[in-house]
Amino acid sequence: MTKAIRIFKTGGPEVMEYVDVEVGEPGPGEARVRHHACGLNYIDVYFRTGLYPQPLPAGLGMEGAGVVEAVGSGVTHVKAGDRVAYAGRPPGAYAEARVMPAAALVKLPDNIDFETGAAMMLQGLTVQYLFRRTFPLKGGETVLFHAAAGGVGLIACQWARALGVTLIGTVGSDAKGELAKQHGAAHVINYNTENFVERVKEITGGKGVPVVYDSIGKDTFIGSLDCLSPLGTMVSFGSASGPVPPFNLNELASRGSLFITRPTLFSYTAQREDLDAMAAELFDMVGSGKVKIEINQRYALKDAAQAHIDLESRKTTGSSILLP
Ligand code: NDP
Repeated sequence: MTKAIRIFKTGGPEVMEYVDVEVGEPGPGEARVRHHACGLNYIDVYFRTGLYPQPLPAGLGMEGAGVVEAVGSGVTHVKAGDRVAYAGRPPGAYAEARVMPAAALVKLPDNIDFETGAAMMLQGLTVQYLFRRTFPLKGGETVLFHAAAGGVGLIACQWARALGVTLIGTVGSDAKGELAKQHGAAHVINYNTENFVERVKEITGGKGVPVVYDSIGKDTFIGSLDCLSPLGTMVSFGSASGPVPPFNLNELASRGSLFITRPTLFSYTAQREDLDAMAAELFDMVGSGKVKIEINQRYALKDAAQAHIDLESRKTTGSSILLP
C-alpha cells in the first residue's frame, strides 16, 4: 500500500483525499515509478474542478520525478533503477508511487536533481514548445507573456532573455513584477492597476506585438487580441481566470487577419522523437544555467489541498512541488 491523493467528486480543494492505494505491477507499455517529488500545475485545478472532465474516482497531478521500480513488457527506453521525470497523462502523480504509461518517461540527467525535475517538466516543456514550435522566436522580437511571475512565467522570462527576445510580462502585483524583471522580463505591467493594452501600445510605439502568449483566458482574451499587430498570433494556452467565451471570428479579421491557436503540451509530446528533442533542449537550458527553476513553494503530499488554495488565490510565484 502507498499513499496517494484521490478525488471521488469534483469541486474545491477539499475534495482531495489522502488515501491508501494498491499500486500493483506494470502491464504492457507501463512502468512503476517511486516519486521523490511531484509537480504542482494549474492544469491540476482544471481536473479537480471538473473543467477538464475525467472518470471518477481519479488521481490528480501530471508531473513527477523519481526512480523506475519495474517496467512492463515492450518498454525498452527505461529500466528498473533509472532516474526519470515526466509530464504526462493520465492524472495520478500526487502519489508516493504509481503505475503509468512509460511513454511519458524521460531519463533525468545526473546534473538535475529530483525536485528540479519534478518542478520543470510540464512548465519547461510548455515554454519550449510555445517559443520554439507554436510561434518560433528567433530573437529580436517583442512579445507579450501573461502571468510572468508564475511557474510557466518565470521560465518564459529567462528563456526569452536567452533567445534575445524582449518579453513584456503581465503580473498581479508589483512584487511579482520585480520578480519577473529579475528573471529577464524587459517590461512588466501590473494588470490590476494598469491598462495592459495601453501599456503594450506605449512600449511598442503603437505597433503592437507579433505574438501574445495568454494563459489567463476569460479576463484577458479580448485585450490580448488588441495588443497584436496585423497578422499577429494569439496563443491561448490556459484559462486561469475561466474559459474564453465563444467569440465571433470577425474579431480576428477586424484587427488585421490575426491567427489564433489553442495548443496543449500533450499534442506536442505525442511522438517519442519530439518529446526526446524537447526534453533535451530543456535539460540543456537548465543544465547550462540559462534557465533556473525557481521552486518557491514546497508542500508535503498530504497538504495538496493547501497547495491548491495557494495556487488559486495567486499567492504562489515560480514553481511548486509536493513531497511524498
Ligand atoms: P501559475 O504559477 O502561472 O499560476 C497561475 C497564475 O495566473 C497566478 O499566479 C496569477 O498570477 C495568474 N492569474 C490571473 N488571473 C487569475 C485568476 N483569476 N485566478 C488565478 N490565477 C490567475 O500556473 P502554471 O505555471 O502552472 O500555469 C500557468 C498557465 O499556463 C495556466 O493557465 C495553465 O493552465 C497554463 N498551461 C498550459 C499548458 C498548455 O500546454 N496548454 C501547459 C502548462 C500550463 P498573477 O497574480 O500574476 O496574475
